[in-house]
Amino acid sequence: MKRRIILVALGGNALFPEGGKGTVEEQEAIAKRTCEQLLPLIATGDPIVITHGNGPQVGRVLLRNELLRDQIPPAPLDVCVGSTEGTMGYILQQALLNELRRNSVERYVVTMITQVIVGRDDPAFQNPTKPIGPFFEKDKADALQVERGWAMVEDAGRGYRRVVPSPKPERIIQSKMIRRLAVVGHVVIALGGGGIPIRRSESGDYVGVEAVIDKDLASALLASQIKADIFIILTRVPHASLNYGKPDERPIGEIQPRVLRRYIRQGHFQAGSMLPKVEAALNYLSGRRGLSIITRAEDLQEALAGRAGTRIRH
Ligand code: ADP
Ligand code: MG
Repeated sequence: MKRRIILVALGGNALFPEGGKGTVEEQEAIAKRTCEQLLPLIATGDPIVITHGNGPQVGRVLLRNELLRDQIPPAPLDVCVGSTEGTMGYILQQALLNELRRNSVERYVVTMITQVIVGRDDPAFQNPTKPIGPFFEKDKADALQVERGWAMVEDAGRGYRRVVPSPKPERIIQSKMIRRLAVVGHVVIALGGGGIPIRRSESGDYVGVEAVIDKDLASALLASQIKADIFIILTRVPHASLNYGKPDERPIGEIQPRVLRRYIRQGHFQAGSMLPKVEAALNYLSGRRGLSIITRAEDLQEALAGRAGTRIRH
């Protein structure tokens, strides 16, 4: 039987509690549940790469930066993303290894720190839009703007927040290694938080960039670069919907890219949440055969059987 290369992108709720304090124990418990839900897919033996978001986790790293800034020099954002790739990779890797052992599935797990090139001239750098980290009072926000050159915005009455650019991912440095490790049978965790944004300096060196990359768009790029046969986006909702949240909401099941494009133009998907997911699915499918699925972890098996989730293909 021909092996299928599968990329699964995990949403924020797969690794962080929605209520709760976000203790390590809570995160381990959620990771365990997520791994249980992924197990049937991993047990098939198909090459698999797992990517994940890091919103709440990097927010806490940034808060710690602020609270301790007089004791420990704060790290730039690219380094903060890197540290969440490490901590989250460890929690997920350990939960997966335990789940594999409990079910006598013989596969190894490896976490790859992943760097992603972003365009130096990306228009996002002129227009930072992604709010990150803690909330500040107006006076403090004004001071931070002057002292550190941060762009600050008012966030829905909850206070002021730093906003950073969200440039398009152009190339994933480790994609060949990720594919190779997956093809020989290792479960690969990669591209945490959308990857660490970097660029080329004048001299050709790689340097970190203070930005965040959308994890859905980055995952689509990785899915293309590793020639994935199936690109799965797991989130909170069982499927993408038309008229989301309205009385006439309708689930989207099997759908072709050109029809999905029409629904995007009609404004059915919210920017920053479902829109990047459907755009990611379309990017992955542009000029290639493949299947993209948007669903929640509980429905993964049914979605793969064609009975649940939003399934996008030509
Ligand atoms: P993740 O952490 O998985 O990326 P997001 O919150 O960014 O999660 O995106 C998923 C959310 O998108 C859903 O929980 C839902 O509230 C929202 N959403 C917006 N528009 C739609 C839509 N048309 N259909 C379904 N969900 C939608
Ligand atoms: Mg999201």
